[in-house]
Amino acid sequence: MSQQQGMIPFLDLVAPHRELEEELVALFRDCIRNAHFIGGKIVEDFEKEFAQFCDSKFAVGLASGTDAVRFALMAAGVKDGDLVATVPNTFIATTEAITQAGARPVFVDVDEKTYNLDAKKLQSFFETQCIWDAPARKLTHKKLDRPVTAIVPVHLFGQMADMDAILELAAKYNLIVVEDACQAHGAQYFSSKENRWRTAGSMGVVGAFSFYPGKNLGACGEAGAITTDNEEIAKKIRMIRDHGQAKKYYHDIEGYNGRLDTIQAGMLAIKLKYLANWTQKRQELAREYGRLFDGVTEFVVPFEPTWSKAVYHLYVIRVCNREKLQAELAAANVGTGIHYPIPLHLQKAYIHLGYKVGDFPVAERAMQEILSLPMFPQLTRQQQLYVAEKLLQLTNVRQAVSVG
Ligand SMILES: *Cc1c(COP(=O)(O)O)cnc(C)c1O
Repeated sequence: MSQQQGMIPFLDLVAPHRELEEELVALFRDCIRNAHFIGGKIVEDFEKEFAQFCDSKFAVGLASGTDAVRFALMAAGVKDGDLVATVPNTFIATTEAITQAGARPVFVDVDEKTYNLDAKKLQSFFETQCIWDAPARKLTHKKLDRPVTAIVPVHLFGQMADMDAILELAAKYNLIVVEDACQAHGAQYFSSKENRWRTAGSMGVVGAFSFYPGKNLGACGEAGAITTDNEEIAKKIRMIRDHGQAKKYYHDIEGYNGRLDTIQAGMLAIKLKYLANWTQKRQELAREYGRLFDGVTEFVVPFEPTWSKAVYHLYVIRVCNREKLQAELAAANVGTGIHYPIPLHLQKAYIHLGYKVGDFPVAERAMQEILSLPMFPQLTRQQQLYVAEKLLQLTNVRQAVSVG
């Protein structure tokens, strides 16, 4: 393709809202005219629909994905001073939520190919760095002398972590599992143990979702939700999000202001109707990138295990000289992203945790080489072909791309 091409964004947030403008504006007008701002039927209906979408009994709408992870941990029983195991290659919200729940994050390295929590390394962490008190069913970190009480697997880039293995370890060591499904709305995992496909957020005791505008299901502002089959936990999170009250001005506990507002719930309900279709588009685009890059050895494409149906929140390749390639792609009008450049254990915010370079070599190496290509449901075939052509040229791949 040689014609002039405008910038192909890494993510286009204008196009989907142009398509839905009439519906969204009508909802906004309805809320304004009826002063529907906090709670009410619009929120409740969205919660029911989202729970159903996630194969869960309950969903509770919240102000953000960060609140979702935090409230999930609190309601599921994580206490002040506990340790919570998670991965170093996630958005900081995962660990912020752990800290805000009163706990402390402990990191475990990820799998080389999926970039998700490596269950074997998790097992080895429990066996070598912790002591298991079988009668008390309590796991204690030897050096930190604190209980490990939960695991937060992150379904990074929209691909499920290996939940069978993680849930098995959680059962063995009496641990709470909160899924960080903030990037994985609708992702599927084939559980060999149950011999059926399961949906992200329905496998742990609680699932946490973000509806930040750039997520696969995004609000027109900040929003999040939890999903669970546990009615007690759902009730508790309803109280925590609303100042600890089940009845107005009767406060059983101190809570937070963490509600999902009505206008956002209404907009999310409108968009939820399109989510399955958008996800399918993302999956088709991922397959097409895979076809265009078939046989290429100059960079690595995403790996999808047979037990995973990823929803491609991001399409992430791995390449040497990442910064140079990113600059050259930008010069060729192709937008890209890096998710994320610095692992959490090496961030300034976590110096006090005492980790050092080399502690999580798989995550550290991956984070120097990953690059997120344009991926959004409205990406056109022509745009995708242009991205592929430029990428192949710039990485000196000799094979020609079929532009037909
Ligand atoms: C987006 C995100 C969050 C936080 O969600 P917010 O709605 O921005 O608070 C948490 N974890 C992961 C993995 C995310 O991508």
